[in-house]
Amino acid sequence: MLKGTFPLEKLKALPTPFYYYNIELLKETLNIVKTEAGKYNYQVHYAVKANANPRILSVIAGSGLGADCVSGGEIEASLKAGFPADKIVFAGVGKADWEIETGLDNDISCFNVESAAELRIINEIAVAKGKVAPIALRINPEVDAHTHAKITTGMKENKFGINLGQLSQVLDILLQMSHVRLTGIHFHIGSQITDLSSFQALAIRSNEIQEELEARGIRVENLNFGGGLGIDYYHPNHLPVATFDNYFAVIHRLLKLREGQQVHFEPGRSIVAQCGSLLSKVLYVKEGETKQFVILDAGFTELIRPAMYDAYHRIENLSSDEAVEVYDVVGPICESSDVFGKEVELNRTRRGDLLALRSAGAYGEVMASQYNCRKLPASCFSDTI
Ligand SMILES: *Cc1c(COP(=O)(O)O)cnc(C)c1O
Repeated sequence: MLKGTFPLEKLKALPTPFYYYNIELLKETLNIVKTEAGKYNYQVHYAVKANANPRILSVIAGSGLGADCVSGGEIEASLKAGFPADKIVFAGVGKADWEIETGLDNDISCFNVESAAELRIINEIAVAKGKVAPIALRINPEVDAHTHAKITTGMKENKFGINLGQLSQVLDILLQMSHVRLTGIHFHIGSQITDLSSFQALAIRSNEIQEELEARGIRVENLNFGGGLGIDYYHPNHLPVATFDNYFAVIHRLLKLREGQQVHFEPGRSIVAQCGSLLSKVLYVKEGETKQFVILDAGFTELIRPAMYDAYHRIENLSSDEAVEVYDVVGPICESSDVFGKEVELNRTRRGDLLALRSAGAYGEVMASQYNCRKLPASCFSDTI
């Protein structure tokens, strides 16, 4: 069984469970993103919600990417990590007043606005501060992302964005406001999208929307296609970097840009997923009547994706090269959903073995909880361990 490369002896000495981040892989991924986006002069803002570990944020800030935030706390974390305010955009369907104030006080580059109701509050707060808020309207493009229902966002029934049928009305409202300025349009259709035809459909839909806007005499400065590019959870060792080349090329081929317009992207998962693994020790191997269970010291409190999204994570036993057997790999939490994988092939596993749950750098550590009074997981990094 081919396994990832880990500094095993050093990792074995650490208390489990914890997150291990391969910083070289993160940097290589960032280089590829910059090279591929650079071919078309596309601007990339990293979606902070995928992983807000301060060290990870500072490596990403250091690479020159911007930050896409979905809360006031993320704006604060991004500023602290070194992202310049003029490279921070702020999205989210429910921005609280203090979060809007945080954005305005720091002069962030854009508020991605999801409703007329929100627009009114941003304008009101901007009036009080004597500032003008730059606005991109998040439009629900009614494009199917062909991904898990819990991470689809671009359909009519989703809570996100302004529906196409209401766009004209929202523009009427916006254009009458004194302290907001329309700078762009924004889309985000979902996550873990591996079928690039969804992005083709999005580029075509955005061309149609641009025509509608131009018919009203509006030309925006920015077109933002959000995030969503998927990664290969099944082959983290063979395909550690997402298909950024095809992704940007698909948009470039179909998008009709007007002069001076800039294109923005907000990848989260595709930047950080593959560099992270959750490391956990085996507490017990429990022989059931029909199954063998590997019971780990990590549970959904450390990695909730399998319980929440039925997500697959490849699991490797770093301590064993013995013949492969089949196990259900579970955590210690008192919930039946605390299962990392059923019928998982692992090298013969014993108490004390160190297991790696791969591709866990995105929506892993950042979603950890203290349920069952557990401690939040620690993290360590390949270049400082
Ligand atoms: C979650 C999110 C992203 C990032 O999505 P990924 O699938 O992790 O790339 C980008 N933009 C917005 C508005 C989001 O909510």
